[in-house]
Amino acid sequence: MSPFRSHMDTALDEARAAALRGEVPVGAVVVSPEGRVVARAGNRTRELCDPTAHAEILALRAACAAAGSERLPGHDLYVTLEPCPMCASAISQARIARLYYGAADPKSGGVAHGPRVFDHPQSHHVPEVYDGISAAEAERLLKVFFADRR
Ligand SMILES: [Zn+2]
Repeated sequence: MSPFRSHMDTALDEARAAALRGEVPVGAVVVSPEGRVVARAGNRTRELCDPTAHAEILALRAACAAAGSERLPGHDLYVTLEPCPMCASAISQARIARLYYGAADPKSGGVAHGPRVFDHPQSHHVPEVYDGISAAEAERLLKVFFADRR
């Protein structure tokens, strides 16, 4: 295993790029066990007319396609916002080893809030979870985005 290096800056870049596309600024990055970024994505729900096109889902799809596998054991996922229940479930299905997220999402999050997917007995794989990574910047991007829309 390589020494720990946060990839949240890359996820924040994806969140900023999403905002420029008019999407809710959330970004995600998948990192291989060797510490290599294998996929990065921002939200594209509006562009793709797809309610499942959250940053985490798009990054997982790309990483799985590159790996030729529906599972990503030993991989880490960085995302700027607490994953929603759909994404938390996908993270579990993909067997992601460690989840690093930024801002908490009391309204729509599914990890520390709402259904708390990983605490549920039906969650067959539970990643290690690290919250609050670069949370202030992730929150700021979301606040600016929603303030501009009002
Ligand atoms: Zn989601």
